[in-house]
Amino acid sequence: MLAPTLNNASLQSFAENYTDARTRFLTILQALPTAYNHRALPCIGQAPNGESLYTDTVWIGPADASSVLVLISATHGVEGFAGSAIQIDLLQRLQVGNLPNNFAILIIHALNPWGFAWLRRCDHEGIDLNRNFINSYAPPPSNSGYTELATALIPTDGDWQSANQRLSEFAAQHGQRAYEIAVSGGQYSDPAGMFFGGLHASQARHHIEALIAEHQLSERALAVIDLHTGLGPFGYGEIICDHPHNTRGAEVAALWYGEAVTLPDIGSSSSVPKSGLLDYAWHAIMNTAPNAPAGCFVTLEFGTYPVDNLFNVLRHDHALHAQRNIRSNNDTPDWQARAAQANTANMRRHFYPGTQAWQAMVLFQGRQTIDMAIRGLVRE
Ligand SMILES: [Zn+2]
Repeated sequence: MLAPTLNNASLQSFAENYTDARTRFLTILQALPTAYNHRALPCIGQAPNGESLYTDTVWIGPADASSVLVLISATHGVEGFAGSAIQIDLLQRLQVGNLPNNFAILIIHALNPWGFAWLRRCDHEGIDLNRNFINSYAPPPSNSGYTELATALIPTDGDWQSANQRLSEFAAQHGQRAYEIAVSGGQYSDPAGMFFGGLHASQARHHIEALIAEHQLSERALAVIDLHTGLGPFGYGEIICDHPHNTRGAEVAALWYGEAVTLPDIGSSSSVPKSGLLDYAWHAIMNTAPNAPAGCFVTLEFGTYPVDNLFNVLRHDHALHAQRNIRSNNDTPDWQARAAQANTANMRRHFYPGTQAWQAMVLFQGRQTIDMAIRGLVRE
């Protein structure tokens, strides 16, 4: 037999839940042979087992490094299984490998630990962090397609059949892309709804802005990789670049990651254009002058099941959470309720299929993308 491409020890990077992921991450970190700077940022809420929630940040390499790889997991909480595993796998690779000179890695583990812990995509306030980075909350962007579809997406009368019919008619009339933009492009009118961008800066946004300032990241060459799951072909890791085409950021992405890079704004991606992406906080500090250090932000998005399944799973998740009777006193879901258990199983499966084949595809492409980012930064 040939030696396995990825051995079983590598697949141990995948955790069972948020608390397990954090424990594994910190255990591997403590075994790192090189110096590092770790900070645990306390977050609001608790895990289902009562444990505290943290976003952990780790700086590995010289404090004044001119090039930095930034690796972010669990921006969409429940998607953290894959992201955390890729970060843990990188720490394991660093046990034996060295970084280039003048180079640092900033790992942001579990940007949305509440969502990771409770198997939700939004944070504890119902905010989709990846729609929260808008320029102004007064007024926020409008999304007329969402307004038209809101009561069909989460039918308060319980008539899912009629609601589904309305969604199908909208897609048939306006096209699939317009339908996906209406549903998932971001909305700022319905706090209980899907893809709600929030009406104020989220806790995570404050954390990101503080990290950018604290580490003076605007003065360095940056490769940011934000790790996501749940969109695109099963197991495929799509490198999505939301820098507008014909900009320096998009050029850098093509240079570093090659022709696999896709761009939502020209329709070459599984993802449609969106409001308030986390990307935009980083775009603002990258390529700010012709001679500024190069930088680009990409989303590494691992596919699972079709987009219809994504929307349906999320619709039922939000419908369930919109009902007060499944909430317990501390404003978190009552996991004893049968409907809640079925829902969390569906959420987990859509965003983390968890088969060995899927895990191996995630780790392999995660390593490949990280290596391309490092090579790209070193060439700069
Ligand atoms: Zn995501």
